[in-house]
Amino acid sequence: MRLAFFLFIFLCLSVPAHAWNAAGHRQSALLAWDGMRPATRSFVHGVLRQHPDVGRWREKAGAGAADLLFAEASTWADSIRHDPRFRAGGTTAPLPGFPDMAAHGDWHYVNIDRQGRRRAGQIDVQLAKLVATLENSRDAAELAWALPWVLHLVGDVHQPLHTGYSEDRGGNGVLVENPGNPRQPFVKLHAYWDDLPGPSGLRGKKLRRAVAYLQEQKRPDQGTPQSWLQESQQLLPEVYPATLGSVSFILSERYVARAQQIASQRLAAAGYRLGYLLDAICVSRETRRLQPAC
Ligand SMILES: [Zn+2]
Repeated sequence: MRLAFFLFIFLCLSVPAHAWNAAGHRQSALLAWDGMRPATRSFVHGVLRQHPDVGRWREKAGAGAADLLFAEASTWADSIRHDPRFRAGGTTAPLPGFPDMAAHGDWHYVNIDRQGRRRAGQIDVQLAKLVATLENSRDAAELAWALPWVLHLVGDVHQPLHTGYSEDRGGNGVLVENPGNPRQPFVKLHAYWDDLPGPSGLRGKKLRRAVAYLQEQKRPDQGTPQSWLQESQQLLPEVYPATLGSVSFILSERYVARAQQIASQRLAAAGYRLGYLLDAICVSRETRRLQPAC
């Protein structure tokens, strides 16, 4: 009884998570980079160099290689949620290079209720707008702001719990038993899925190895952002564990193996699709001779 009370309090106080962790975003971004045309790479690198926070990404990327900078940029949309510049909820005047100072927490997901009605979140709506900006804008600052968002949201829309149920806030309100981690025997279902890509600080050779593993996954159909979202929703029945433990549902060995398999497939799909999407945007700009050029 005491344990059940503790779990209830934990869930009431807990802060919702919002993304694959940084390791997941870096892996999808690097996979995308590997498949992109040289012209697209040089376009996106030129765009990112105009971003106000490019110095921060360069610092984190270490060697400063263009692909690693691209990978760090994919984590920016999450990093601003802990950034004092974005803490006032968009009420402060925009700093140079930013259209507003809001962290836009509800851009990372969409939640539906069990009857299939849309309840919260804007990931699909904002992704469509940001892609249109990348395709049509001639404004360097606008492009530089939109690109890291697109890198990030293509990843998030492939995380099944980012298209989850409003009743439990996309798995943020579900605490499950995790016998695989004795130091943290209970974990929020959403956080468990966010962390499936590995430790969030994953960089260097280990990051490259993780990307090489993803490249063994089958390349999916390109589809559309809407179909990526629907695929994520269709995975939800498998995402909720069905085996009862001592006080809540438990992550069995079988569940863990399947979860890891799904996560790898979704991270790879996000990477392949992101690369193709950016290539297509570049071709469209080239065809219309839009500046800045690809
Ligand atoms: Zn996110």
